[in-house]
Amino acid sequence: MTEAWGPDDDEPRPHRGPVKVRVPAKINLHLAVGPLRPDGYHELNTVYHAISLFDELTARRGDTLTLTMEGEGTGELELDESNLIIRAARALAARGRVPAYARLHLRKSIPLAGGLAGGSADAAATLIACDLLWGLGLSREELAEVGAQLGSDIPFLLHGGTALGTGHGEAVSPILARPTTWHWVVAIADGGLSTPAVYRELDRLRATDRPAPPVPLGGPDQLMAAMRQRDPEILGAALGNDLQAAALSLRPQLADVLKAGHEAGAIAGIVSGSGPTCVFLAADAAHAQEVAAELTAAKVCRAAVTARGPQPGARVI
Ligand code: ATP
Repeated sequence: MTEAWGPDDDEPRPHRGPVKVRVPAKINLHLAVGPLRPDGYHELNTVYHAISLFDELTARRGDTLTLTMEGEGTGELELDESNLIIRAARALAARGRVPAYARLHLRKSIPLAGGLAGGSADAAATLIACDLLWGLGLSREELAEVGAQLGSDIPFLLHGGTALGTGHGEAVSPILARPTTWHWVVAIADGGLSTPAVYRELDRLRATDRPAPPVPLGGPDQLMAAMRQRDPEILGAALGNDLQAAALSLRPQLADVLKAGHEAGAIAGIVSGSGPTCVFLAADAAHAQEVAAELTAAKVCRAAVTARGPQPGARVI
C-alpha cells in the first residue's frame, strides 16, 4: 500500500510557476521624524497603513535572472541590477543558497518616487514570489530580515495592515484594532520627489527656521487611540507627517492639492510619506468618489483615485 503522505511532504519544494503576487502601496497615517543620527538615518516613529493600490509581480522559472515590466513608470524605471526587484531576488538567493534564476514581470500601478513605497512593495512581492518559486520555505519574519537590509519599508509591506514602525521604519509591530475600513482618496502627482532630498530639506528647515522651528510630532499614541474610536473625524484630526513641510518647501504646488482636497470636502489631507502624493480621508466609499471627482476636476494632480485600507501585505494570488 502506498502512503498518502511521504516523509518529506512537509519539505518546501520548488514551484513549477508561474507565481503571481499582489502587493499594496503604503501611506503613513503618522510620521514623526527624529533628528539625523550619526549613522545617516533618522529615527522614525510611524503608523504604516496599507491601501488598495497594488503592484503585481509574476515569477516564472528561468535559466538567468530577468525583469520586464508594464504600467506606471515603464521606460523610466531601470530594470537592471539597481532595481529593488533584482536586488531582492539576489539577496534571497544568497540567503537560500540557490542560483538567482527567474523570469520576473512587474505590472506597476504604484507611481514612482511617490511616497507610497512602490519600490519596497515590489521588493516584498519578489521575496514572497521567489521564496515559493525556489521552494525555500522561509517564514515571513525571515523574509522580513532579508528585506530590511534593502529598504526600511519592506518588512511592513510583507505584513500589511496597519502597524507601528520604529528604528528607521524597519521594526514593525502590528496594531491590533477592531477591523475598520477607512476610505481614502489618493492624489497622484506629475513626477516624483526623491526621498533623500526631502529628508535633507527637513534637516535644512530644522537648522535654519528661526524663530519658530517646526515642532516634531509626538508619538503616534493619539493616532492609535483615534483609530480605536472608528470615527473618521477623530482619525482625520490625528493624521500627521513631519516630512510634509519639507515636501511643500520642495514642491510648493502641493499646497494647492491640499487646499483643493479640503475644498472638495475631504475630512483631512496630508502628504504621503516623502510625497508628492497627497492622501485624503473620506467618510465612506461614496464620499471618497465625490472627493476624487472634484479633485480631478480641479486639475491640481495627474490623477485622483479612491483606495481602501487596511489591506494585507504581499500575497500570492
Ligand atoms: P519611499 O516612500 O519608500 O521613500 P517612494 O514611494 O517615494 O519610496 P519608490 O517608487 O519606492 O519611491 O522608489 C524611489 C526610487 O527607487 C525610484 O525613483 C527608483 O530610482 C528606485 N527603484 C528601484 N527599484 C524600484 C522599483 N521596483 N520600483 C520603484 N522604484 C524603484
